[in-house]
Parts: sequence; structure tokens; C-alpha cells
Amino acid sequence: SLSRSLCKYRLSLPPTVKKHYLSLAKGTECQVTYVWIDKTKEHLQCKTRTLNNEPAGIRDIPEWDAFWTDGDPTEVILIPVRMFRDPFTLNPNKLVLCEVLDSKRDPIGGHQRSHCVQVMEKVKRFEPWFGMEQEYMLFGLDGKPFGWSPQGCPLTGVSCAVGINKVYGRDICICHYRACLYAGVMICGTNAEALASQWEFQVGPCEGTESGDHLWMARYILHRVCEDFGVVASLDAKPFRQSVYTSGCHTNFSTKEMRSEGGLLYIEEAIRRLSRRHSQHLCVYDPHGGADNMSRLCSQSLTSSYDEFSAASGRRNVSVRIPDHVSRRGCGYFEDRRPAANCDPYSVMRALVETCLLGATGEDDDEEKETVTF
Ligand code: ADP
Ligand code: MN
Ligand code: MN
Ligand code: MN
Repeated sequence: SLSRSLCKYRLSLPPTVKKHYLSLAKGTECQVTYVWIDKTKEHLQCKTRTLNNEPAGIRDIPEWDAFWTDGDPTEVILIPVRMFRDPFTLNPNKLVLCEVLDSKRDPIGGHQRSHCVQVMEKVKRFEPWFGMEQEYMLFGLDGKPFGWSPQGCPLTGVSCAVGINKVYGRDICICHYRACLYAGVMICGTNAEALASQWEFQVGPCEGTESGDHLWMARYILHRVCEDFGVVASLDAKPFRQSVYTSGCHTNFSTKEMRSEGGLLYIEEAIRRLSRRHSQHLCVYDPHGGADNMSRLCSQSLTSSYDEFSAASGRRNVSVRIPDHVSRRGCGYFEDRRPAANCDPYSVMRALVETCLLGATGEDDDEEKETVTF
């Protein structure tokens, strides 16, 4: 088995040995790692090349060809869109997030970033900001939850727990946090989640498409950090079929008006619009057309109902929540708690903007009742 062979062969180096290789002198070359979303729109791929000099910006990084991991022979083109520092091999090396185009230079099937860019262009004057809360669960190479005993999960049932009997893998969370800061990813916080070895980090707030870029790069860095620890980070919406605990990617949203005095009125109007398009949003809030959320949103352990929209201030078992401090101040942002942990942020942001700012109307508008009270 894989875990047995891991005992025999060393797959990662002791720190001092790794330090030796990384300290070997080199010229002005720069190693650039291209990172892109794969065909499933759920996982990432990467490969690295040498550039002669450090790129000053994204324009200095050339396009590149690539293949899919699933054996599909079609060639695709990688278009660099956002550059970060490489926290694994350090300056001057780079990580670069790429869009994927087909040979006709159209966005590859279903990849949403370019559509998101177009929609954000239309709503620029609203200055839309997004912040995502990424929950994830750690698994060992044996496929079992990281650190759990054979007796099962030391369930804490609360976030932000402290103590070795309640949280497993804090070093992963700490290293990921610092690596993101080094890279220039807009990470704004972390916390332990309800299950031992379940964690969360938050990205944002950033404007428009940028938040999606930062979230995807934060996910890449998470998977790479987990390689070093010999564990796997799962963004599955429902990591255990038998448990009510799930992983989400709460998406916080605001416009300039919502953030300014009296903004609560604009927040309430946006939520009213969302209430009329509940099912349409759920279709794009996980990568499987709503199937993942159908099992995740079971109205238990701080999730809401899959079938019915709900909104409230100061309560968390709802589709959309206005944070308490926002109600008190009368302005700020709101939180859409429905996106699953494995969602594509570009699809989520686009849906939010289309419904709340562009006033898109769904076909079954009349059927879904307004059930919003504040
Ligand atoms: P929760 O109480 O729901 O667990 P967190 O503290 O985990 O909230 O996350 C708050 C999120 O809200 C962060 O991702 C942050 O970037 C985001 N956020 C803060 N202010 C704004 C804003 N004005 N617009 C959009 N998102 C925001
Ligand atoms: Mn949170
Ligand atoms: Mn959480
Ligand atoms: Mn939240």
C-alpha cells in the first residue's frame, strides 16, 4: 500500500537537507510556477519553468501550453493573469495563476473567470467587494481523518477550539497562513472548525474578480503546504456522509453603497432579490449543479435549508446573514452562507452581482415566494 511504501522511502527531506539544495547559488534566472484550475473546476494543476530574469509584472510572463491530468490529449493554452511570490522557493521566484484557453483561444468549457471579469466590468461603479471563508478538512494518506483515533472523531462541535484533544493540525493552518502572507495573497484570518482537523481561512475583502484569484491561489498554497505535512486537504462539501458537519465557503459581499452610511437599505434590497432566485444560485454554488449542497444544506449544525431561502441578522442557520455588527452600524456587508467549500468563487461572485446589481430575473420568479423578514 502507499502508506507502507512511504515508510520505506523518504518523499520529503529533513529541513536542513532541503535548505542546502535551496541555498545553492544560481544566476538571475527566475523559476515561475504556473497554476491553473483543472477540468473538474475543483482541483488545480501546476508546472514550473525558468525565465531568464525576474518578471516585473504579469505582462513579462509568457503564455504556455499545457495538458489535462485526466489523459485528454487536447492541448490548452495557459494565460497568466495574476502573479504572486513563491513562498516555497522564495524570492525572486513566482507563482502565477492562469486562465485556460482552448486552441481557438476561447475560455475552456465551463471555466468561469473570463465571464466573471466581463460582469465585474459592468458593475465597476458599485465597487463590489468579496471576502470568502474557506473551510477544509484534513485527511491522512490512509484516507482517514487526520489524527482521529479508531474510536472516531473527537467532536468539538464548536469553531475556534483550543487544546490538543480538540484540534489537530494547527501547524498546517499556521504555515499556510504565513505562506499566503509571503506570497501576497490577501488572507485576513484563520480559525479551527467544528471537527478536529477541520480548519478555515478567510480571504479578502478584495474588489471584483481579484478575490477569486486570491482564493484559488490560497487553495493552491494549502495543497502544497499539506504535501510537506504528508496530509491531504479536502474541500469536499460533505466530507463524511454520516455526519451533519460540512465544509462551506461563506461569501461576504458589499458595494460602495452598502458600506456607506445607511447602507443597510441596500443590503436588504440585495437580499430581497436573492430570495427570488434561491434555486438558481444553488445551481452554481457547488461544482455539481447543486448536488453537493443538497446533502450539505440540511438545516443542521448552522446550515440552512436547501429548498427554502431564509435571511436574518445575528443568526447563522440561514441562507443569508447580516452580521450583528453590520445591523448595529447600519452599514457594511452581508454573508451568503450557501456556497459549498468546493465552489468556484468566480461563479458565486458572478451570480451575486447579476442578481443583486444587474437585476437579472429568473424564470420561476413568481413561484418562489418572498420570505424575507429582518
Ligand atoms: P464569520 O463570522 O462568518 O465566521 P469571518 O470573520 O470568518 O466571519 O469572515 C469574514 C469575511 O468577511 C472575511 O472573508 C472578510 O474578508 C469579509 N469581509 C469583511 N468586510 C467585508 C466587506 N466590506 N465586504 C465584503 N466582505 C467583507
Ligand atoms: Mn468564519
Ligand atoms: Mn466556519
Ligand atoms: Mn461565516
